[in-house]
Amino acid sequence: SLRGKVAVVTGSTSGIGLGVARAFAAEGADIVINGFGKAEDIERERAALVADFGVKALYSGADLSTGAGVRQLVADAEAGFGRVDILVNNAGIQFVADIVDFPEDRWDAIIAINLSSAFHGIKAAAPGMKARGWGRIINIASAHGLVASGQKSAYVAAKHGLVGLTKVAGIELANTGVTCNAICPGWVLTPLVEKQLHDRAGKNGTSFAQEQEALVAEKQPMKQFTSPAQIGALAVFLCSDGAATITGAPLSIDGGWVAQ
Ligand code: NAD
Repeated sequence: SLRGKVAVVTGSTSGIGLGVARAFAAEGADIVINGFGKAEDIERERAALVADFGVKALYSGADLSTGAGVRQLVADAEAGFGRVDILVNNAGIQFVADIVDFPEDRWDAIIAINLSSAFHGIKAAAPGMKARGWGRIINIASAHGLVASGQKSAYVAAKHGLVGLTKVAGIELANTGVTCNAICPGWVLTPLVEKQLHDRAGKNGTSFAQEQEALVAEKQPMKQFTSPAQIGALAVFLCSDGAATITGAPLSIDGGWVAQ
């Protein structure tokens, strides 16, 4: 059980982050959710964590595209609950174009949100975890942290960087009771991927459903999406005693994508 633990999940107003937040709440952890969206939608998700699982939940709207924003999130968590025991660096964005056409501001934003925010978050939260002798840092990387695809230069660079950062943090935090690992999902059907499917359907004159099938088949031997709940289940395992000596590891959950 994670009762008595405080978990901060970045980018948890949607998709994988929300799935991870709900999985931790189901284990009894108090939750800090974060991310963008309509105020009433966010409040509904926050209230559902409390109602469904009997835990405490607070929302921080910190923008993680700067170090100051990430430090604000950790400060909001410490002000609300007094500690951060579990940090999930999940917030992320995507942009798809060849390098020669890639807008420089999209490159900077993806590196800031998908990579640098994890550095700032670990820097802010790890000292408290070390002082208490227990902590779990989970970086949501991607199959694109281990292998590349065209048109995703910033995303692939950020995710490879995130896997590297995970290894360094795992080494530095060894023997402190704090582990740091990366989860590397294949395709998960979330708004981030739905946008890519709509763009592909528009470009190819196909349906959303056709592109859904084609997208998964292009990369994964297993022709099914992983669900946010399944990513949540792996994150819960990484917080268990059974996972106490797993650190610095990229863990694939990708229907066989990187096995090829
Ligand atoms: P999503 O778009 O559903 O959710 C992204 C979340 O990040 C949202 O809550 C959004 O508000 C938040 N966010 C974006 N910019 C932010 C900022 N500047 N500050 C704070 N929050 C911000 O996407 P998702 O698919 O759930 O992606 C979550 C993570 O999983 C990302 O890091 C993504 O790269 C990774 N991932 C996704 C897939 C997939 O197939 N969906 C696969 C592998 C890895």
